[in-house]
Amino acid sequence: MENCKVIAITNQKGGVGKTTTAVNLGVGLADSGKKVLLVDADPQGSLTVSLGVKNPDELDVSLSSLMQSVIDDEQPPSDAIITHPEGVDLLPSNIELSGMETGLFNVMSREYVLKNAIDGMKKNYDYILIDCMPSLGMMTINALVAADSAIIPSQPSFLSTKGLNLLLHSINKIKRSINPNLKIDGILFTMVDNRTNNAKDIIGAMRDTVGQNIRVFDTEIPHSVRAAECSVTGESIFTHDKGGKVAAAYEALTKEVESIERTSQNRSRSDWVR
Ligand code: ATP
Ligand code: MG
Repeated sequence: MENCKVIAITNQKGGVGKTTTAVNLGVGLADSGKKVLLVDADPQGSLTVSLGVKNPDELDVSLSSLMQSVIDDEQPPSDAIITHPEGVDLLPSNIELSGMETGLFNVMSREYVLKNAIDGMKKNYDYILIDCMPSLGMMTINALVAADSAIIPSQPSFLSTKGLNLLLHSINKIKRSINPNLKIDGILFTMVDNRTNNAKDIIGAMRDTVGQNIRVFDTEIPHSVRAAECSVTGESIFTHDKGGKVAAAYEALTKEVESIERTSQNRSRSDWVR
């Protein structure tokens, strides 16, 4: 698509809801009529498993084969993409991506391999969401170089918010050195238990401080065991617990993300007019 937007869902902290957000934002966007590709950029293959592939390590073709074809300057494999019944496409990954990441250190233009692998696919999609691994290593750098913007899921806990500084610093470094157009769409609070004052205090403080410069999404994803069950059943929250609070939250997030797209398009249009 002419206006395909590539979003990296990233946080070097583990277990903050990156993969869950990739699945449910992806399906949310597909439900609102968008063409969506989900890219699993984590050798753990959690996104791949969450979308119903039981044994990712048995896949013949994956993101790592696609990236290898870029490095070798060969024709990309044509059968890398898997279609999920809920209307999203998946570029799956498995443990082979770990060897690929290590090998990247000897490759020319090593930061651009993922970008070169997915750029040719943009014509088919409105959104490409990249589910990053919990590190700031070469795969995550590749994701941030390939991306137009980043969404940062974070739990409302003291240590999670402390780690954000390091991430914001890394994003700024990539923006300054390689990808000047990279934007931060926002920080998304996940697994929020509103019964605790601690969560409320941390979210309030973040909105008052970091929120002055970076969007903190109005939508907060509530903590619910129904969300955790999804990765086991291989379906999104919209199928697993349609009327539930997590489905409602991811639907609201989808609208927020779509509205960012609209406002930034409006902004570039008015810039042009001026
Ligand atoms: P990793 O860093 O390992 O890639 P991640 O940031 O991708 O982790 P997830 O895998 O999405 O995080 O979530 C971590 C765990 O929390 C999973 O078991 C998931 O099912 C669960 N989980 C995600 N969202 C919620 C939620 N809203 N409520 C309760 N549990 C959740
Ligand atoms: Mg994950």
